[in-house]
Amino acid sequence: MKLSKRISNTKTSATIAMSMKARELTLQGKDIISLSAGEPDFDTPRNIKNAAIESINSGNTKYTAVDGMLTLKESIVKKFKNENNLEYTPDQIIVSTGCKQSIYNLCQATLDEGDEVLIPSPYWVSYPEIVKLSDAVPVFVETNSETDFKVTGKMLEDNITKRTKMILLNSPSNPSGFIYSQEDLKDIGRVLKKYPNIIIASDDIYEHIIFNGKKFTNILNVCPELYDQTIVLNGVSKAYAMTGWRIGYAAGNSTIIGAMKKIQSQSTSCTCSISQAAAKAALDDDNSEVTKMVSEYQLRSEYLHTELNKIEGIKYKKPEGSFYAFVDVNGLINKIENINDDFELAEYFLREADIAVVPGTAFGSKNHIRISFATSLVNLEKAVCRIKNLLS
Ligand code: GLU
Repeated sequence: MKLSKRISNTKTSATIAMSMKARELTLQGKDIISLSAGEPDFDTPRNIKNAAIESINSGNTKYTAVDGMLTLKESIVKKFKNENNLEYTPDQIIVSTGCKQSIYNLCQATLDEGDEVLIPSPYWVSYPEIVKLSDAVPVFVETNSETDFKVTGKMLEDNITKRTKMILLNSPSNPSGFIYSQEDLKDIGRVLKKYPNIIIASDDIYEHIIFNGKKFTNILNVCPELYDQTIVLNGVSKAYAMTGWRIGYAAGNSTIIGAMKKIQSQSTSCTCSISQAAAKAALDDDNSEVTKMVSEYQLRSEYLHTELNKIEGIKYKKPEGSFYAFVDVNGLINKIENINDDFELAEYFLREADIAVVPGTAFGSKNHIRISFATSLVNLEKAVCRIKNLLS
């Protein structure tokens, strides 16, 4: 059976593939420590689960509006106002099956063949593939640890051409964990203001997971003139430990949101009614559970920073948020015989130490690995111990 050209040109998600592999090995009885997927180990908070149960019992089990239940969209509007100081009306909001579907639908709704999308690299594994699935072209803007893996306005401008249609911004970043400060965003905004036809896709999914009391800023907070060209993407998966509920959302220009709605009306119809009720409870809550989870992530991040940097051949700059350690393993690759790159190193860790991590090349940075610390401190301690034993 011949598959489409489009799919032949698409990679499987490396994060999902590695976590599936870890799951399979666990089912076979292996004691795998999976540090692969960005999936909180915490349970979804009780009040959110109760809202879902109540929703089932009250008969909220049918299709909802394509773009989400009005009551949830109203909570999203309130969230934007209260947490981000951004004003939207319900017709500027769409609820999707995870933030990933919002990004996918945004690309499908706005990109044509040959359009270019600027993606700061390292990037989340799915961005380039989602862009390619829209027949558009990912254009990578390379960064490194010296600038905390962030792009500047100039770096973006140097890559803008007549075909540039979109830029994907992600802060805190998956995989690097760094955040764009107000100054960084002002600098980027100064450039993007000159290009009103370029869509700014701001993926804010990790906005709550920030350490040491630092504050999250969206580009619109420092550059409100970009309002019409910016689509804000977010969801409840990461902050509220709700990955399986599949609720993401997008906000912005109502013409673009309307086009995304058209795609949903012909693909998924709407996302799960019960999950929508649960997401409403999450967003209406006071975020005390989120705060507890974030302080736990911070402890883990500090632990990993101290312990990994003790290992010869590993360099790791302290991140400011998210739950990922993006670790430079050049030194290890040079040191270990028969290991030539990050893919081989990740395989070596899995084969010899039962630890699953994701190779950095999947995120556009070779000779790095991404370690998810959305797992208990006990597991992280075990993992560090295994790595040290393997290397000694
Ligand atoms: N976004 C998470 C990650 O990067 C979950 C898996 C995925 O969709 O990529 O691990």
